Amino acid sequence: MSKKKLQDIPVNVVDVKDDGEVEVVSLYAKHRKLYPRWVNGLFNKWRIFFVVATQLFFYGMPWLELHGRQALLFDLVERKFYIFGLVLLPQDFIYLTALLLLSALGLFVWTAIGGRLWCGYACPQTVYTEMFLWIEKWVEGDRAARIKLDNGPKTLRKIRLKAVKHTLWLLLALWTGFTFVGFFTPIRELATSVSAWTLGPWELFWILFYAFATYGNAGWMREQVCKYMCPYARFQSAMFDKDTLIISYDAERGEARGSRKKGSDYKAQGLGDCIDCTMCVQVCPVGIDIRDGLQYECIGCAACIDACDEVMDKVGYPRGLVRYTTENALQHSYAEQDILKHLRRPRVILYATILFAVFAVTAVSLVMRKPVKVNINRDRVALVREVQSGWLENTYRVQIQNASEKTRIFAIRAEGLPELKTAAEYNGRLQLEPTETDDVSVRVQVAPEHAGPGSHPIYFIITAEDDPAVSVKEKATFIGR
Ligand code: SF4
Ligand code: SF4
Repeated sequence: MSKKKLQDIPVNVVDVKDDGEVEVVSLYAKHRKLYPRWVNGLFNKWRIFFVVATQLFFYGMPWLELHGRQALLFDLVERKFYIFGLVLLPQDFIYLTALLLLSALGLFVWTAIGGRLWCGYACPQTVYTEMFLWIEKWVEGDRAARIKLDNGPKTLRKIRLKAVKHTLWLLLALWTGFTFVGFFTPIRELATSVSAWTLGPWELFWILFYAFATYGNAGWMREQVCKYMCPYARFQSAMFDKDTLIISYDAERGEARGSRKKGSDYKAQGLGDCIDCTMCVQVCPVGIDIRDGLQYECIGCAACIDACDEVMDKVGYPRGLVRYTTENALQHSYAEQDILKHLRRPRVILYATILFAVFAVTAVSLVMRKPVKVNINRDRVALVREVQSGWLENTYRVQIQNASEKTRIFAIRAEGLPELKTAAEYNGRLQLEPTETDDVSVRVQVAPEHAGPGSHPIYFIITAEDDPAVSVKEKATFIGR
């Protein structure tokens, strides 16, 4: 029995129209390999700029050191996040929640104003696909050469070019996977482990997993990730309105499209400015025709603008047949600069206000955050003890965590009851290395006349000797008799 490929199995539905005509609609869209043509132009320069800027950050950042430690390190094993001198501990995970909230709100504002600018210029899927395309073009040539190569016979040259391309792709993917893991494991130690072939199983797994994802998504899946897998493409329509920036073909100006002789009076022939050269389609990385109107597949990369502007320059028509605009600007024919005036609208103001409020609360909380964590536990075995002088004594374990990048000495004292005395290990001074946690036993003594039966509030004050502003006041209870 012959094996059928999935795309050969018909997946159809039958649609019966009002007039009784029966139409068979296929639910399966056969994948068509795309060969985006290289394009020059202003927006291509911006895309290159964003690829370089984001990747300089991504590949370079793990190698940057601060206070003798990786400046940006999310140490999941130790459960400590080092962010440019700021040390976040599990108790600080609220800041990560705030960061996620800020990112989501930022995306809402950005999408309401700029549409899919993120997708077109800075999304990792776009950026890596762009880099993989550069390699492809460098090895196999531009669109026409690639189509010819793929459709041609299997020759030694074809095998060599494909091997070179895939080797370069895999090397880039592996470097990307290594860098990604380097944000979670000190990258210098990781590099040593790689060169000594002593990588741990989890590190190896994640490097290969991320490399495989990069190679697969940017080399093979490409536009299919944006079309079928990315959730952002699906829910962004909820954030769009008629004043959101989109890339659009000016149908009023362009139609009727059609070829014409150079210098001919095309308007007299009933033609518009579109010469139907299909350059805007050939450069499109998702394989759509912008002239068909706004489509959810469009990632807003502006390659079609560059392509069309180049064509317009050649035929001597004004640029901007395909351009950044808004639905309202197109509909009401208002000037490009008027687009800015429509920035102030309810949804933008609402998203921006919430974003600003969350940002302000997070920033204030971070500024006021004390880089020391204290935990106090009273000895529950001997609640209260009478010492020789007849005074009452409670014992506590004071746990201190130095949440800074400095070695610090912390002084411990207590207050809250008259004539209260403390006797602690290490004379009430505890030296802690950066991010180190330790505890000391502290005995608190109070004269019996000041501590009757029941519990009395007292306070422990832990202060960094090098910086009195780094001080924490923690409440505890003293059991009297
Ligand atoms: S239609 Fe234009 S902007 Fe949209 S994805 Fe294609 S080339 Fe990019
Ligand atoms: S590049 Fe411009 S002129 Fe050519 S088909 Fe596209 S819209 Fe028409």
